[in-house]
Order: sequence, then structure tokens, then C-alpha cells
Amino acid sequence: MCKKIRCYHAKRESIKFNMRCDAKRVKITMECSECKQRNYDTMKNKKNDPERLEMNKYCRFCRKHTMHKETK
Ligand SMILES: [Zn+2]
Repeated sequence: MCKKIRCYHAKRESIKFNMRCDAKRVKITMECSECKQRNYDTMKNKKNDPERLEMNKYCRFCRKHTMHKETK
């Protein structure tokens, strides 16, 4: 394969990769608001959810559904 074509494909791949990264998905940790245990790791889109997330999720330490908040 000639070098030119390889470069072209590499460039295209990196553009695709950048577009995926551009979605600003970040890893967050969800913490039980009652026992403060960190029960869940999840991803969120910073663009869609600029605020701290809150979710009603099952806490295995409290053994019930509690409010889980995103940690810093
Ligand atoms: Zn809990």
C-alpha cells in the first residue's frame, strides 16, 4: 500500500475519533445520599447534563432505593 493512502485513512480515523470525544462524555461516580457509599460508576454527557446528577437507585448498603448524587 502506498504511504499516501495510509496517511489519508489515518487522518480520517482520527477525525472520527475526535468527533466521538467531542461529545464530552465524562465518568462520574454516584454516591448514596444516606450512607455515603459510592455505589455506581456511570458516564454522563457534560453538554446534556451540566448540573450534578441525582438518581433514585438501589443501595445495597441501605438495602433500599435511595437518592444517589454525583460526587465531585
Ligand atoms: Zn446507602
